[in-house]
Amino acid sequence: MSNKITIELFPAGNGDAILIDFGTELILIDAGFVSTYKKHLKPRLKELHNAGRRLSKFIVTHIDNDHISGAIAFIKANGDAENPSVIGIDEVWFNSYRHLKFDDKEDGTFNDTPPKISINEGNISIDPDHDEQLVSHNQGTSLGSHILKNKYAWNITFKGAAVKADKPKEINLNADIKLTLLGPTQKALDNLADDWYDYLKTVFHGKINEDDFFDDAFEKMMEGRRQADLLEATTNREELVSSTGDWVEDNAVDWKKEDRSPTNGSSITFLIEFAGKKLLFLGDAIPSQVEDQLKKVLVDSEFPLHVDVLKVAHHGAWSNNSPYLIERIRANYYLFSSNGRSHHHPHFETMAWILKKHGTVSTKTFVFNYKQGDRLLEVNKFQMKQKYNYKTIWPDVNEFGIGRDGYVKLILE
Ligand SMILES: [Zn+2]
Repeated sequence: MSNKITIELFPAGNGDAILIDFGTELILIDAGFVSTYKKHLKPRLKELHNAGRRLSKFIVTHIDNDHISGAIAFIKANGDAENPSVIGIDEVWFNSYRHLKFDDKEDGTFNDTPPKISINEGNISIDPDHDEQLVSHNQGTSLGSHILKNKYAWNITFKGAAVKADKPKEINLNADIKLTLLGPTQKALDNLADDWYDYLKTVFHGKINEDDFFDDAFEKMMEGRRQADLLEATTNREELVSSTGDWVEDNAVDWKKEDRSPTNGSSITFLIEFAGKKLLFLGDAIPSQVEDQLKKVLVDSEFPLHVDVLKVAHHGAWSNNSPYLIERIRANYYLFSSNGRSHHHPHFETMAWILKKHGTVSTKTFVFNYKQGDRLLEVNKFQMKQKYNYKTIWPDVNEFGIGRDGYVKLILE
């Protein structure tokens, strides 16, 4: 048996599209924007299909545009689960509004046909390079409705209920691969439900039902909310501030505050173990929630948790990567998936805390899927790499932007 693990980060703008190949199991995590799917994922998935492969899991971590838009395009194009046009999928993990609990909240009645929700398109995050990426807001375009219509095996590991873990849950993907589900918790899903319910109350005066319409409204409403939260939380700083010439020293500042977005908090997060290697994927999760979950399975002396690969939460945003959480996880490879646009991810604070918290004893490698122009030049400086004992991996693209910016492949053997 080969112990090889291949991780591919696809050009997903400011979002995520990650394919992990364990030789036996093939897992896709999120699918970026529509153009991520059309230009990059589709040809790769077709190639894998032609080689006789199937996706054992397609995990859509949460409902934000930069993770879900390409997923909608993919499932829609793939069509019937029994007769897929791109690649077979054994199971989809995705929490839609159907998986939230509203039982104690149905104090009103939604008898009338709900009015069309007007969605502020200005709130939708898109990659400015690809204007076709904006998903249509018409009825029936949501991921949930496409999964349902095409009869995909949806959350079957959880008997069709929500993908959730109040206590971290071990799931054997096969005899050799163990996945430990860390989140979301029921509480995180309840936060999402509260947000949704408050919104419904203001827009409709009736009962929540299972129409496509509600899937759409849910996904779109949450995206609008999250963008507002994010604008508040981000430092919105594009350029590196380095007064002393040491960007690490200058950015290892005090932590400000935690991201509070219910959508990010609902991210599906998990640790995968295979052939003695550990890979931790945190979606856009909230740091105190990840820390709480880790503390349920590890005692103090077992920290920092040592992993081979960490998909850094929320593209390296400082509000999702507290110095406390960073201290608890030590990785050989830190994956930063973002083109740096919109929110200037990854934030320099996050990278600085990683280097400061773990000292120089072990080499850390920062993996970036986008070059990001000059923005990360300081991070690539030889003197700084020597001083803080880190390396960098960049996409295969030259100074003129020729090559494949946005794509990077990591092979662990
Ligand atoms: Zn994201």
